[in-house]
Amino acid sequence: MEIGILGGGIAGLSVALALRKQGYNPRVYERRAEPATMGAGVTLWPNASFVLEELGLLQDIDAIGGRPLTMHRQDAVGNALGGLDIALLDRTMGYPTYTVLRRHLQEVLLDHVARARIPVEFGHRAVRIELDANGRAVAHFENGASIRPDLLIGADGRMDSVARKFVAGDNTPVYQGFVNWIGVAQGQHALVDDISIQDFWGAGERFGCVAIRPQLVYWAAAQARPLSETIPTADIRKEVEDLFAGWPEPVSHIIRATPANAVRLIAVHDLEPLHTWSRANVLLVGDAAHAPLPTSGQGACQALEDAWHLARCLNGASGCLDEAFRAFTKIRSPKTAKLAEQGRVFARGLFATDPETCRMRNERAKASDPVRDVQVLAAGWGQGLPMPSCTDSTPAQGGGFGSLYRIE
Ligand SMILES: Cc1cc2nc3c(=O)[nH]c(=O)nc-3n(C[C@H](O)[C@H](O)[C@H](O)COP(=O)(O)OP(=O)(O)OC[C@H]3O[C@@H](n4cnc5c(N)ncnc54)[C@H](O)[C@@H]3O)c2cc1C
Repeated sequence: MEIGILGGGIAGLSVALALRKQGYNPRVYERRAEPATMGAGVTLWPNASFVLEELGLLQDIDAIGGRPLTMHRQDAVGNALGGLDIALLDRTMGYPTYTVLRRHLQEVLLDHVARARIPVEFGHRAVRIELDANGRAVAHFENGASIRPDLLIGADGRMDSVARKFVAGDNTPVYQGFVNWIGVAQGQHALVDDISIQDFWGAGERFGCVAIRPQLVYWAAAQARPLSETIPTADIRKEVEDLFAGWPEPVSHIIRATPANAVRLIAVHDLEPLHTWSRANVLLVGDAAHAPLPTSGQGACQALEDAWHLARCLNGASGCLDEAFRAFTKIRSPKTAKLAEQGRVFARGLFATDPETCRMRNERAKASDPVRDVQVLAAGWGQGLPMPSCTDSTPAQGGGFGSLYRIE
């Protein structure tokens, strides 16, 4: 079976690897001329590590990643608001959590793709998909090329997915009322005391920093803003520095340890959950199918889960695409829709500006039971995977993903 994958991001490359492992011959088409080096970092929670292990990548991730053992929360003046015992989460789910730079994760994926002899055609921006006379999808690229594979997988992201437009008729992302500034800080000396995730909550503002090594930390600052005010200023780093001046250290220290020209401003969008992820022989995966907000903590992890499930569904359906698509969507849709919704709920709490709402939110966070939080989170994130935390009696089967506000 000829398989074409639109998009060489986390979803496209991991799907390619998972399919190759099952003996398929996928080919990836990426719009960029070369591998992306942009972006900050990603936290790969234990459900992602399960998939990475299955794909044979976990050893390489271990070599490039940090192993955070805790997440600490504080308010904007340094009062403790509880946190997450990541070591306990890892033990409960049976796999480690890693923090990695996005470009390093991409390098590992591309390295394995090259070793598996999966072709990646850079400089191929899909512009349109249409059906031929036999009802088979044809993808056209900006450079004039076109493909007509047996299976076309849309892994072309959240902002302007050509595949989503073909499947759902609409691919308009939804602005969720806040911006992210992202950066990577690197120091000669330690920037933080330990490998942990630190999450600071204000009123309408948030700062999260994630250590990979004591000298290497990626961060995301966020603020509630109308869409009309999401144009980057001339000195983006200065804007963030001013906005978060006076917040507890290491916030200012980390911003200053980031090259000024490497801070990016992103107007954060997500996508409405879809009822169907396929049309004809085209299937959506990753953000093109289900793009949660960064507050879900799970965007990249869910892209990886798609890869693992899709390979199994295709095998289970013995080549019948309709059956494989049905099985895949049935498994993946409820979990990803729940996470997308949860991401929105978290964002509403995090970016509330009303002082009383923020006070209550902080009180709730302080009062949460750390062991119970881990159990609920483990059950939700492990759902649908053969992980120790995923049993039929766990609360996530009923639909909960815990009460934490996570950062990625
Ligand atoms: C502001 C922000 C911060 C985030 N931070 C984190 C984080 O820290 N941790 C985390 O887990 N998740 C994070 N996410 C979510 C995460 O980035 C995504 O869920 C994850 O990257 C999904 O992978 P993907 O491959 O589906 O999409 P992408 O990573 O977006 O990859 C899509 C690929 O398709 C290519 N492409 C796009 N259009 C075309 C086309 N027309 N033709 C060919 N190729 C095309 C793109 O160039 C890209 O390579 C963040 C999201 C946002 C919006």
